[in-house]
Amino acid sequence: MSASANNAPVLVVGGGIGGLATALALSRKGIPVQVLEQAPEFKEIGAGIQLGPNVFRMFEVLGLTEQMFHWCAFPTGLEFRDSITAETIVDLQIDKRFHDRYHAPYGVIHRADMLNVILDACKNSNLIKLAISQKVVSIDDDGSGVTVKTETGETYKGAALIGADGLWSTVREHVVGDGKPVVSGHIAYRAVLPTSEWPKEYRLPKMIVWCGEKTHLVHYPLRRGELFNLVAVFHSDRYEEGWDTFGDPQELQARFAEKCEPVRMLLGKVNAWKMWVLCDRPAIKDWTVGRITMVGDAAHPMLQYLAQGGNMAMEDAVCLANAIEASGRDYEKAFRTYQQQRYLRTARVQLMARVFGEIYHASGVNRELRNKVLREWSETGGIDMSWLYGHQPELPRVDNVPLPPPTRLDA
Ligand SMILES: Cc1cc2nc3c(=O)[nH]c(=O)nc-3n(C[C@H](O)[C@H](O)[C@H](O)COP(=O)(O)OP(=O)(O)OC[C@H]3O[C@@H](n4cnc5c(N)ncnc54)[C@H](O)[C@@H]3O)c2cc1C
Repeated sequence: MSASANNAPVLVVGGGIGGLATALALSRKGIPVQVLEQAPEFKEIGAGIQLGPNVFRMFEVLGLTEQMFHWCAFPTGLEFRDSITAETIVDLQIDKRFHDRYHAPYGVIHRADMLNVILDACKNSNLIKLAISQKVVSIDDDGSGVTVKTETGETYKGAALIGADGLWSTVREHVVGDGKPVVSGHIAYRAVLPTSEWPKEYRLPKMIVWCGEKTHLVHYPLRRGELFNLVAVFHSDRYEEGWDTFGDPQELQARFAEKCEPVRMLLGKVNAWKMWVLCDRPAIKDWTVGRITMVGDAAHPMLQYLAQGGNMAMEDAVCLANAIEASGRDYEKAFRTYQQQRYLRTARVQLMARVFGEIYHASGVNRELRNKVLREWSETGGIDMSWLYGHQPELPRVDNVPLPPPTRLDA
């Protein structure tokens, strides 16, 4: 590789959580980056995101722990309830024992807060250039560098390119060409409310999952307890692309008509829902070609049932930056190493997310079985999630993420 190609910026297509985290991780290794975002601003939709212990380690590596802690709520537990009978199936504690086990906390954060923390860190780096309203429409890798063209007619040249352009990725179409994502048949409605508008008896500092037949509802506090986040999911064959479609409250009530009164009452608290058609793709082994690779949903889109898509994108960013550094900026070699290190981990999360979706929405005998198995967790304190939350060999070992104070809510 020539010295000039080596010093050119890496192009990152997409400025969501994955793209900005990748830009930041590369800059921490002294690598210049040009981010190209199609939207007119760097913005996340108004909804919560769950953060497993595995992602707090990545925050620590990137120097973001303090800021993320500032915006997070830290739930004290995870309770599963049956949405038909309203009974509590299991009520798990997220406490010091949890922290001791995984060496990091479990948190929840407003997506905009999370993106802004990463964006501010990017803005503070003189190695990162951020461009908005730049939708990448064509990509050319000539073996010594990558050139892209954007919809507005601009051209950008880089030493390499990282696609962080999400579920409907243009970069993936160029690299893999496997068409549209797989429609899961599940639709999510999401909303955020001020805590003052949330019923007092449900102002609890924990995540509550109401498991139903072909539906589920999750709610938890956000932003240090100032907000509440709701996600309601039901089965439907509709397909619409994008992250910005309004939901229909009447459709939601109809889908949850058979559920217990508290669930219907909670759903009735929201007038303005946003809607997502949930999609993923089967896991693949190869998302790299030459000087082009991908991170996050572009590489391994997954259903949200393990709450890990954004977490995996953060892990990708750290792993990829390490691989580039270790290769001495031999991008082709680094991209293959990174992919080799990541594909089985992300494939496992993709697959298990589908399984957890089946469990949440189980009917008939499967529902009875789910409730029986979840009840058994009461005795064991939950199942061992080390495969997901524990240290990964391809990522830096971090054992010092502090134990945060639990979020308290004034009832
Ligand atoms: C209902 C729901 C709940 C979820 N809950 C969680 C959770 O609790 N925890 C968790 O970790 N994950 C969760 N996820 C998953 C998480 O939202 C995604 O995995 C994450 O947003 C992926 O980040 P990304 O940066 O890869 O892609 P995106 O967030 O989709 O970002 C892609 C960016 O690329 C831009 N872009 C697209 N095409 C182009 C182009 N051609 N040129 C330039 N820019 C382009 C887009 O505008 C966008 O800004 C959830 C998802 C859903 C649907």
